[in-house]
Amino acid sequence: MKGMIVIEREMCKGCTYCIDACQTGVIVIEKIFNGMGYFPAHPEHPDKCTGCAMCAQMCPEIAIEVYREEKK
Ligand code: SF4
Ligand code: SF4
Repeated sequence: MKGMIVIEREMCKGCTYCIDACQTGVIVIEKIFNGMGYFPAHPEHPDKCTGCAMCAQMCPEIAIEVYREEKK
């Protein structure tokens, strides 16, 4: 399955729970602060996303949206 995530960087508090949850290493922490003063998560390797949604389930800030490719 192919997936894609969108992380709302201004909602992210940089807790890294999503990084720990992702089995394929899609997400990394950015080196630039967001508006709240946190280093936010970023989907650095989107090609590896399976759409499993574990990252979104773990996010306490509800900052991650997950999309899955439709089967044809
Ligand atoms: S949906 Fe799954 S594979 Fe994709 S970034 Fe989140 S945890 Fe990783
Ligand atoms: S789990 Fe949510 S708040 Fe924590 S780093 Fe990931 S996106 Fe940011």
